Amino acid sequence: MAKRDYYEVLGISKTASEDEIKKAYRKLSKKYHPDINKEDGADEKFKEISEAYEMLSDPQKRAAYDQYGHAANDPNFGAGSSGFGGFGGFSGGFEDIFESFFGGAGGFGGAGRSRANMPRQGENLQQRVHLSFEEAIFGKKETISYPRESECHTCHGSGAKEGSQPVTCHKCHGSGTINIEQNSIFGRVMTQATCDVCRGTGKEIKEKCTTCHGNGRIRETHKVSFTVPEGVEEGQQMRLTGQGEAGYNGGPYGDLYIIFTVGQSNQFTRNGSEIYYEQPISFVQAALGDEVEVPTVHGKVKLKIPAGTQTGTTLRLKGKGAPRLRSSVVGDQHVKIRVQTPRNLSEKQKELLREFAQLSGEETVEDDGNFFDKLFNHKDKKKK
Ligand SMILES: [Zn+2]
Ligand SMILES: [Zn+2]
Repeated sequence: MAKRDYYEVLGISKTASEDEIKKAYRKLSKKYHPDINKEDGADEKFKEISEAYEMLSDPQKRAAYDQYGHAANDPNFGAGSSGFGGFGGFSGGFEDIFESFFGGAGGFGGAGRSRANMPRQGENLQQRVHLSFEEAIFGKKETISYPRESECHTCHGSGAKEGSQPVTCHKCHGSGTINIEQNSIFGRVMTQATCDVCRGTGKEIKEKCTTCHGNGRIRETHKVSFTVPEGVEEGQQMRLTGQGEAGYNGGPYGDLYIIFTVGQSNQFTRNGSEIYYEQPISFVQAALGDEVEVPTVHGKVKLKIPAGTQTGTTLRLKGKGAPRLRSSVVGDQHVKIRVQTPRNLSEKQKELLREFAQLSGEETVEDDGNFFDKLFNHKDKKKK
């Protein structure tokens, strides 16, 4: 079955705010939650809604979806083996989102059938990393520090005091959920709710860890080193697996998304693997041809100017551009030639140019014998 557009699934516009997305999801998930809606296909519908929400509620995933559609959901999408630009697939599953709304004691519909005490992955994080023009082209080793929730080093996430262990919760007997009778819009229903004693973990901590006060996680500055690959561009992302926040109930760490910003060069501009540069040459060089030295990001390179080169001509230096990301291909440098018209000529130079004009059969209008000055004065007056 072809996948429906996520915006359509949630019945919202492409420009919907985060709040509108949340509201739409809440409304629809209540309507189609399989605990309530026993109609055929409600389950499927609920999954579809949850999937749409998972994608659109995460600004990163939403941006990817807006750009690439359902392809953004493919774990292999744009990821390659390095995970570069990977938007991932589903990490925690839709139960996570459901719990984040309806979990907690007395919460609607119960904690997704005692899933609260199952291991869950920690949150993903984002960090911006700024690169200079050259660093983005050649890559570099980078180390960054950022605050995150890490697993408590004292209790290793259990939350229990050193030497003690969490025990099975006395209220829910380890299931993490309790049955409660509720008056709801659907009448009196027996529902499951997250256990209020253990908050769904199924474990009770008698003596709390003094480092994390029973949370199992501590806020700390985390340092990570990684290699920026060659050929990074503005806005590109890189996923560092497991560098996000600590998981719950023994679940894995979330991921860290590095978002790159790239600085400008005062010589070059870049578009993907192609680099652009403007080379001024004299009209003599343009007419007679020459060999000039041109700067490239790989160092200076000799460039042959063919005789009769016109201003605006672009010459190509093959392989002198930027490497293409995750490829052995290197782009080119495009050198745009700008022919400079000489000014402030000496009498001797003017004499030679007049002779040149004569030889070319050109009629020059010079009442005081100063063709070029006239030309420029005339132009200047026009501008005013
Ligand atoms: Zn601890
Ligand atoms: Zn409990």
